[in-house]
Amino acid sequence: MILACKQCDRLVNVAQLGAQQRANCPNCNAHLITCRQNLSQWNMAFAVTSLLFLFTSLYPSFISFSQHGLVQEISLWQACVLLSEKYNAILAGLFLFTILIMPVYVCTLTLISHSKIWSTLSLSLARKLTKSFSYITPLNLADIFLVAVLVSAFKLMSLAELSLGYGFWAYVLFVICFIELLTLIDESELWERQQCQFEPVPHVCGQTAMLNKLRQCHICNQLSRSETCPRCEAKTYFRKPKSIERASVWMLTALVLLIPANFLPIMDTINLGQHTPATIFSGIIIMWESGSYPIATIIFVASICIPIVKAILLFYLIVQTNKCRSPQRASQLYRLLEIIGKWSMIDVFVVIVLVSLVQLGNVLTVEPQLGIVFFTAMVLCQMIAVHSFDPRILWDKYHAYE
Ligand SMILES: [Zn+2]
Ligand SMILES: [Zn+2]
Repeated sequence: MILACKQCDRLVNVAQLGAQQRANCPNCNAHLITCRQNLSQWNMAFAVTSLLFLFTSLYPSFISFSQHGLVQEISLWQACVLLSEKYNAILAGLFLFTILIMPVYVCTLTLISHSKIWSTLSLSLARKLTKSFSYITPLNLADIFLVAVLVSAFKLMSLAELSLGYGFWAYVLFVICFIELLTLIDESELWERQQCQFEPVPHVCGQTAMLNKLRQCHICNQLSRSETCPRCEAKTYFRKPKSIERASVWMLTALVLLIPANFLPIMDTINLGQHTPATIFSGIIIMWESGSYPIATIIFVASICIPIVKAILLFYLIVQTNKCRSPQRASQLYRLLEIIGKWSMIDVFVVIVLVSLVQLGNVLTVEPQLGIVFFTAMVLCQMIAVHSFDPRILWDKYHAYE
């Protein structure tokens, strides 16, 4: 099987893999493909258990806390309803998408794709569904939501007595199963099944796809010479168009948004009628002074260090595209950028969790403030910037001098 590496564009001939074997790119060491045994059964098993744990976690009490004799118990579902009724529709939508829509869609589609129903679907519908898979799976934030719940629990401990309910533990089990499911899902296998006959194209392995005049589809990875992918009908190109310009513009927008995100308060705690607005930084200082050093460190790294490090790394990579020295290291940095990307969302979810859980009227209430909207927009712009950047251009100069 001929594959083009997504990171460096090198054509690699991958021999038939044995069970549990994986192939990496010989040039940049990026992961190419993994062969798994009994993939269908494992996919179905994890999809069913994920759905079961998810639905079990929705209605029983998720977290309960009390202060001055007032007790509040709240389930995930109630939190969702409360957010949409009382506050910002964007935050409520983000919450609903993360905890419910995205996982249910992925699990249902996994079940359908491994059942007999799949073969009865028309080719165009099967293609559309597989395409939607490629778009939605990178948007998983369930694990980050769980970490945010734990951070929020630590924050609340100083204000009220707290206990975690059955809903919480069911959600922990859901996240474990769901993350395992995401690592098992093999989109390339799903694409292989869309019976398409392609003419074999002459090529030289070890060179880049571009030097062979081959375009790799960014959705289904099919190699072809045409401007439209013959398998999924997406537009194809040798490199993402205007990759550097788009990445720079999105990252600069993110840097501008970083200013109001850090200076405006992100939430307001109303304790016995007394308002305490908190910015990201003042929140970290309060956590540090109260002795919660690990939590303060997590928030500091996720909300302050990661956005700045991401901007520096991306601009460094943009400069590197003009040089041909050590593209291997640049590729590794890009992979690091992709991994750390979503962890800045922790603080967004901490605010969403606190706002939806802490509603004890005049005794204790948390309200979202404008800063969190800027912060969410900043994280999203950074994610789009990293996604707009095409890592293959890091290698183009290197290949040209080879
Ligand atoms: Zn590679
Ligand atoms: Zn395609």
